[in-house]
Amino acid sequence: MEIKKKDIRALTKEQLRNFFEENGDKAFRGNQVYEWLWQKSAHSFEDMTNISLKTRQMLEDSFVINHIRVNQMQRSEDGTIKNAVRLHDDLIVESVLIPTATRTTACVSSQVGCSLDCKFCATARLKRMRNLNPDEIYDQVVAIDNESRLYHDRPLSNIVFMGMGEPLMNYNNVLKAIDKITSDEGLGMSPKRIVVSTSGVPKMIKKMADDGVKFKLAVSLHSAIDEVRTSIMPFNATFPLASLRDALEYWYAKTKNRITYEYVVWDGINDKRKDVDALVEFCKFAPSKVNLIEYNPIDDGIFQQANSKAIDMYVDILEKNNITVTVRRSRGKDIDAACGQLANKT
Ligand code: SF4
Repeated sequence: MEIKKKDIRALTKEQLRNFFEENGDKAFRGNQVYEWLWQKSAHSFEDMTNISLKTRQMLEDSFVINHIRVNQMQRSEDGTIKNAVRLHDDLIVESVLIPTATRTTACVSSQVGCSLDCKFCATARLKRMRNLNPDEIYDQVVAIDNESRLYHDRPLSNIVFMGMGEPLMNYNNVLKAIDKITSDEGLGMSPKRIVVSTSGVPKMIKKMADDGVKFKLAVSLHSAIDEVRTSIMPFNATFPLASLRDALEYWYAKTKNRITYEYVVWDGINDKRKDVDALVEFCKFAPSKVNLIEYNPIDDGIFQQANSKAIDMYVDILEKNNITVTVRRSRGKDIDAACGQLANKT
């Protein structure tokens, strides 16, 4: 019977040091290998050129490196890049590089498919297959950082967890990946440049506050009226706005970090004055910022971007109430890389 080899990147540095000691080598060898695995993102043991051939063979016999492979890369006219990423078990997720004049942002996936069922989202049409491992999240970031350097002559500056999946439903692995991304033994990025975007899982928002995380939080709100929100995000029936608000109040009390709301205005769904008034009311308990995001239809004819008059109304009323608001143009539409469009068409 073939013995299934363990993914070496599931080991902590300490475990790797112990492995070498138990096999008659120096613990220090574990540090060297750890550096190859994370800082240098080695795809194979062969790459580890300062490790002896004998040791590399021992590693080969004991472990695998389940590195992701970029299966297909698409480049948009506006510089956006979408990667279809193949995982070790041949499942595919997508991640996106979004360049602007001042920053390069990676939008990464946290799950294969999604267990939630937001009606406007292409990913929701895919069954949730599994959570991504920390190294699979980390690898997406490394791949985009490399592409950013290659095609845009600058390193990656920001990361958003807004790709496929609900990151707080894969909380532990997302946190482990962020630990690596921000650690000097990984990419050394500042946690302030990372945004975890959730559809709003109250229990997990409170846990994040208790855990003292340093990254930023964004909530895909889309409506501050329960009836409307439940019709477009059905899990709102289980976690209604009052429980979301309660969790966000808790988050703000502990972190003092402003809350960002992601918000799409759809024609005939949330484009009326009462929708804006409810949003203003919802935002009152803590300093808030609203990102109004341009929507990209997913061919179902139901969800259409509201007209510019409705967007102007939102901006006007939010500003009058001293709530920061930005209107975000969507990127990479021609390659289905825009918000809500990630659905493994490849
Ligand atoms: S919007 Fe996010 S949480 Fe909702 S179905 Fe899509 S991927 Fe899942």
